[in-house]
Amino acid sequence: MAVENADINTVENLVIVGSGPAGYTAAIYAARANLNPLLITGFQDGGIPGGQLMTTTHVENFPGFPDGILGPDLMDRMKAQALRWGTRLVEADAEAIDLSQRPYRITAEGQVIETQAVILATGASANRLGLPSEGRFWSQGISACAICDGATPQFRGAPVAVVGGGDSACEEAVYLTKYGSHVHLIVRGDKLRASAAMADRVLANPAITVHWNRQVADALGSDWLEAIQLRDSSNGALEELAVKGLFYAIGHTPNTRLVAGQLELDAKGYLVTQPGRPETSKEGVYAAGDVADAEWRQGITAAGSGCQAALAAERWLSHHQLAVTVSREQVEPQEVGQPVRTAVSDEANYDPNALWQKGGYALRKLYHDSSKPLLVVYTSPTCGPCHVLKPQLKRVLDELGGRAQGVEIDIEADQEIAVQAGVTGTPTVQLFFNKELKQTFRGVKQRSTFKAAIEALIGVPA
Ligand code: NDP
Repeated sequence: MAVENADINTVENLVIVGSGPAGYTAAIYAARANLNPLLITGFQDGGIPGGQLMTTTHVENFPGFPDGILGPDLMDRMKAQALRWGTRLVEADAEAIDLSQRPYRITAEGQVIETQAVILATGASANRLGLPSEGRFWSQGISACAICDGATPQFRGAPVAVVGGGDSACEEAVYLTKYGSHVHLIVRGDKLRASAAMADRVLANPAITVHWNRQVADALGSDWLEAIQLRDSSNGALEELAVKGLFYAIGHTPNTRLVAGQLELDAKGYLVTQPGRPETSKEGVYAAGDVADAEWRQGITAAGSGCQAALAAERWLSHHQLAVTVSREQVEPQEVGQPVRTAVSDEANYDPNALWQKGGYALRKLYHDSSKPLLVVYTSPTCGPCHVLKPQLKRVLDELGGRAQGVEIDIEADQEIAVQAGVTGTPTVQLFFNKELKQTFRGVKQRSTFKAAIEALIGVPA
């Protein structure tokens, strides 16, 4: 893309914070308006890039996908569409947002970015129960993401529990029936908040038992969760329920920490906007998606509000003659095409020098034969955080120019390997060197963490 105005300063037209449906839709509209938007995807603060759809399975109510689409696949498509039209990404957390004067200032990756307009699309984060033993059993039976961790060996053929009564809880309960011997749904009241279609699925499923009017009081066990303690909401009586897994699906809290005290928030911490509009209490600052929506909270409503926010920002920038637009070298940007999937390696296609391969065969060969550090990432098919992590790992291996290699293990396809490796959730990454396990990383970590760990093994100065 070429810049039209030669004396462009370094002030951005528009920075979008957040990479869920709201953020990417805003980016698509702003990029097509030639505003050259910058989108800060977020990384760990407030959930993973891509937002809550990254931790759901089938999205069946997003128009245009009559047979449904996996949440992470839908987000991949939105991201690809935003990039196709020229959105620039900063793949990091926004660390600070200063709205005290214009241009506004946002800090990310230690850099201060100045911008005329801002769209806040930071979404909401999953809540935790705060049980007395939560820390002890976190990732040892307790998880906030059934979709990511359900395929973990410890949950297979074992009783598991989900707490919550909304669409998420119902979706996760049904999903877990694939793996657990039985699923207990713990509901604190006497009805489900979930949509009728979702509730019907749960109530009709013989593999799910709903425990009405029960609160989870604590988690019990030794090395791994063995039972949960339930309190009857009506009389306070305690009972134990033997489960190997406890999955939280108890709603979300809006991610407004960085703007608290600068913008008007409601009693629950959601951004307040003008009724039915995206304008916040500060000129040039717009809200989109769940961060300003305690009520509808759907992918499609978030996308719609992202569109509104981008159009409002565009109008405001042009009304005040603040936008420095770009012109496209190519009127029709190149088509995105289908994502390329890595084939599972076997005797025929195994390549001892490939940077990235998949499956148990490649793992065994590289473990025994390779003299380079080996990154093994354990994933499961529907794990959104795995979607986020894999390209980061591939980038690290690219940057290291062949001095390390990577293998992906789908724990559903290669269960035995997952058991042997002691995988307790996905993504898990193990770093091997000279047939020795050097380090294990659980969950999504910064690219620099993996790079530094590999460089320490091959003797590159930090
Ligand atoms: P919700 O806020 O809708 O539901 C949260 C549930 O957790 C409620 O049942 C609530 O109980 C319960 N809860 C909250 N705190 C506690 C606690 N401390 N102890 C026990 N239970 C608690 O959140 P969801 O994540 O389910 O859904 C968010 C939005 O996303 C909704 O709009 C939903 O429709 C949408 N969604 C859509 C999906 C789809 O269409 N495929 C899938 C997933 C989500 P109570 O009811 O008593 O308040």
